[in-house]
Amino acid sequence: MYDIIIIGGGPAGLTAAVYARRAEKTALVLEALAAGGQIIKTPLIENYPAAPAISGVDFAEKLLRQAKDLGAEIVYEKAVDIKDGKTFTVVTPKNEYSAKAVIIATGSESRKLGLENEDELIGRGVSYCATCDGGFFRKKTVAVVGGGNTALEDALYLSEVAEKVYLIHRREGFRADETSVARLRAKGNVEFVLNSRVTKLVAEKRLQSIEITDNGGAVRDIPVNGLFVAVGRVPENRNFAKLIKLDEAGYAVAAENCHTERAGVFVAGDNRQKEVRQLVTAAADGAVAATEAVKYINSL
Ligand code: NAP
Repeated sequence: MYDIIIIGGGPAGLTAAVYARRAEKTALVLEALAAGGQIIKTPLIENYPAAPAISGVDFAEKLLRQAKDLGAEIVYEKAVDIKDGKTFTVVTPKNEYSAKAVIIATGSESRKLGLENEDELIGRGVSYCATCDGGFFRKKTVAVVGGGNTALEDALYLSEVAEKVYLIHRREGFRADETSVARLRAKGNVEFVLNSRVTKLVAEKRLQSIEITDNGGAVRDIPVNGLFVAVGRVPENRNFAKLIKLDEAGYAVAAENCHTERAGVFVAGDNRQKEVRQLVTAAADGAVAATEAVKYINSL
């Protein structure tokens, strides 16, 4: 029996582990893929306080080391269910783990465009991670789709690797911050294709070109070797929907104190309903959720 099981080893989950251990509670972190979560896909973090330039991988490694050094246990298994009882049992495909409190810090996964052959072309021209796969497109032509910070930063990164980058966005204005937009506009090998959507992936074994339809209905083909999809994220709360309340978009409903309606179950990070989803707010959630979980356990 652990004091706290933390589901998800991203910035929110690992920060929760640090706080749990500093409060002398036992803590198990269950991570489905790689510790660090989404942040390991970010080439350079420039907006975390007192760390003006650190790579996502370095950030994740330091945070993981900090949590482990404090005595948190990390197990690489995906939590698929939480059984509710006097205590909680977190179920993975291999094991069951019990705890007095649970923090759900599962973050989010990449949203897909929903095009016909999108899934089959993953690894054959279609990617959701520029820093992971960008190296395969050295001196090639790629497109990035999206208008948020991820898309703009991906396009900026790819402009250093690929020969030509198209940035395709469905409207004129960007969600991304002005700095990223201005930096990308200054690049000689980046072409903005605005008010346009990707409507078809043309492939023969690998991606060959993308069909673009502009908001006026005009259709054209752009030959590309790679397409990087960066159209936002979908919260990963599905497995816990019977235990916690989700909003229409699938985010866990929990206030700034990270409490869910079920006492002893807390939610932290990008899968929580909130206004600002940033590295710093994910870490803040982790601290709050663990502190609240400790209070809950001490009150039992
Ligand atoms: P995001 O900000 O939600 O942006 C998603 C973009 O994709 C939007 O421009 C949206 O268009 C577009 N989009 C959504 N669905 C689409 C579809 N079906 N087809 C075509 N386009 C579609 O997502 P994000 O860029 O992944 O960023 C997520 C959060 O992380 C944000 O809060 C962001 O600021 C943060 N982030 C921060 C940094 C940083 O600070 N360095 C880096 C990366 C991410 P519309 O604008 O028209 O809706």
